[in-house]
Formats: sequence, structure tokens, C-alpha cells
Amino acid sequence: MRPLPILSAVLLFVLAACAHAPGPAQDASSRPVILVSIDGFRPDYLDRGITPNLSTMAAEGARAEMRPSFPSKTFPNHYTLVTGLRPDRNGIVDNTMEDPGPPLRRFAMADREQVRDAFWWDDAKPIWVSAEEAGIRAAPMFWPGSEAAVRGVRPTYWTTFQMSLSPDARVDQILAWLDLPLEERPGFLTLYFDEVDTYGHMYGPNATELDPAIARTDSAIGRLRQGLKARGLDANLVVVADHGMAEVRAEKVVVLEDVVPPGLGRPLTTGAFLTFVPEAGREAEAKAALLSPRPHMECWEKAEIPARFHYGRHRRAAPLFCLMETGWEIAPRGSLARRRAVGGNHGFDPEDPQMRAVFVAAGPDIRQGARPPVFDNVDVYPLLARLLGLAGEPGDGDLDEVGAVLVHGSERR
Ligand code: AMP
Ligand code: ZN
Ligand code: ZN
Repeated sequence: MRPLPILSAVLLFVLAACAHAPGPAQDASSRPVILVSIDGFRPDYLDRGITPNLSTMAAEGARAEMRPSFPSKTFPNHYTLVTGLRPDRNGIVDNTMEDPGPPLRRFAMADREQVRDAFWWDDAKPIWVSAEEAGIRAAPMFWPGSEAAVRGVRPTYWTTFQMSLSPDARVDQILAWLDLPLEERPGFLTLYFDEVDTYGHMYGPNATELDPAIARTDSAIGRLRQGLKARGLDANLVVVADHGMAEVRAEKVVVLEDVVPPGLGRPLTTGAFLTFVPEAGREAEAKAALLSPRPHMECWEKAEIPARFHYGRHRRAAPLFCLMETGWEIAPRGSLARRRAVGGNHGFDPEDPQMRAVFVAAGPDIRQGARPPVFDNVDVYPLLARLLGLAGEPGDGDLDEVGAVLVHGSERR
């Protein structure tokens, strides 16, 4: 046998192997990107001394504070984080909203049928859709929008939102997906914890009653990190929140009916802000009632909302919007008896430091000790796109500030 054909055969084999070398998809599944949301987790919760796992992550990687997008509520901000578009552009303008149609349609977080309908989500392309299109399997567990076939694409793995599932059980689902054979394994996963927000609403951000929820969530993140380590997975872990939390009090309330008499229209959201749809033919009365100046609140017609909020162009943004002073709420008279002496809420001005959301990241592509200045949460999307090696869709964010968390050379991916 002459050596040359063998050599060229070997060479051919090597070349063929190179052609099938891990592409972005395989690369992502052996180095997954995991986006974790802790609902309502304020950056200063890290300073309570009860988050050993998140604190270790921050020490090994990056830590920062994010400004949420307006309004500082769960669904709008979760969709902003994965689309890079502010709520006024991504179509999820509030947790509760109406699309004027025709036909008129209503959306609420607890309405399973609507939450699963791509109609609400199709204005934007979530990063898991781009990942799937690039051959990276996605597993956006419990992320708002993940139960819908957005732009006709369903993530490979998803589950119905189940609030009763414990934080540890959620982590175990993520680890089970990562235990799949390489060719089936997701390269982009998300995880969501709601307890910190729930307890924050009940007791307020300053209460010690909040501590066990913070600690349990931190411990679940420890379980995740441990599970990744045990599997030898070098994941890029990005922990974010959707918004912060401010203390509210029973007596700091403006009574809805004192502002706008019943019959003038429908209030869609009350609390930290009021969204109001006037009854046909009573627009002028509703406007006159809401736009007259009052302490602790400021109201606008949607077209007049100050530019810094980037809000009011979308057809789903309610015709009238009132923002409460931080700490003050607007509430229907019938709800006053149920108000807790002290509690928490969000939905207030995103510029208020109390509305800020946590950002902690660690992993092979995250720079140790990175401490970028406060940035807007629209910047998380380009960061995720970079970590996944995706071009990403044009959006409202950039890497100007958050790019500092990337290790030098991560541009290769
Ligand atoms: P918020 O008060 O705006 O922070 O909303 C928080 C609530 O959103 C949580 O307590 C959950 O009940 C709800 N929620 C979060 N994610 C989902 C989801 N994927 N599907 C339905 N409801 C959700
Ligand atoms: Zn939330
Ligand atoms: Zn909340």
C-alpha cells in the first residue's frame, strides 16, 4: 500500500470532520446560555447578607443595576429583556391591556388562552425564536411569551406556567433538559422565580419577612450552579430582575372614584399607575376629570406622555395614563378595607432607584469583577445575542455599557 492515498484519506477525513466541527448550535449546547429572572429583585437585596450564591456569582463575574422599561411591570419588562424592544414597541404594553381591534380584545396574565395566543406577542421576535432559527434549541421555561408560537415558531422545550412549582423543582427541570443527549440539548434556557416579588408585595421591600423568599431563591440558584458543575457544563449564567419594589402604605392612597366618577370609562390597571379607556361619547369628560392637576399623581393623554418614558404610540397603550408618585397608589374605594398597613408595589417611574432591577452574570464569557454603571434593560438582549453568537434583531438597546461585562475576545462567538 502506498502511503500517499492513506495520507490523503486521513486528510480527507480530517477535512470532513472540520466541516462538521461544532457550529453555533452545538457550541451553544455545550456552553449553554441560561437567563434567570428573579421577579422584583432589587439590586440592594444582594447586600442583606443572605445571598451567598448570588454574591459568589457576582464576585466571580459581573454585577450591575438596570433601569426597567416603562411601565415597570412584569410582562412588559420580561418581553423587553428577550426582545430588546421597549414595551411600546414589543406590544406587551402592560400586564393587563386591551387591543382596540376591531374586534376589541383583552389580555390579562392569568388568562391562559390569551397568554398562549401569538397575537399579543407577534410585534417582536424573542431571542429564543432567533436561536431556534439558527439551530440552537431553546427552553424558555415560564418566560412570558414562551407558551405562544411567536412568529410561528415554538421553542423546542417549554412548559405551562405553574406558580406552585418550587424553586428547586424549576431548577431540576432546567437540569433535566441539560441532561439530554447533545443533539437534543437546549443551548438557550430561561428560569423564572416569582417568590421575591410576591413577598415584596405582601410585606414591602424593607421587611425581614422578605428574607426567606430571597434566601430560597438564592439557594435554588446555588442548586443550579452545583448541577452545572456536576455535569461539567461551562454555562454563561445571566441573572436579571424585571423591576424593583417600593414600599407602599395603607394611608398613601388616592381613591379612584374621587378622581374619575364611575361611568366615564374602564380603568384597566390601578395601583402604581392608572390606565383608563373612556366610554364612547364621554371622552371629553374623562379627559377633564383625569387631566386636572392633583397631588401625588400626574396624568397624560397617551400622545402627551413625556418622551423619556418611550410610551404611548402603541395602539394597545390606553388613551389616558396616570403615574403615581413613588409610594402612592390609586385604588378603587371598594378595595380600601383590604389594604395592608405596609406593603410593596412597582409600576412607578423607572428612573426611581427603587424600581431598579438586579443584574448578575458569570461564566466563561463574563469578565470577572465587571461593574458597569446602571444601564437600561433593553441592553440585555444584545448581550444575550452576543453570548449565543447570534446577529440579533435591531432593537432599542446596545452594548455601550453592558459590553463591559464580556471578556475580551468573546466577539469570536
Ligand atoms: P407583577 O406584579 O407585575 O410583578 O406580576 C408578577 C406575577 O406575574 C407573578 O406573581 C405571577 O403570578 C405572574 N406571572 C409571571 N410569569 C407568568 C407567566 N409566564 N404566565 C402567567 N403569569 C405569570
Ligand atoms: Zn415582576
Ligand atoms: Zn410584582
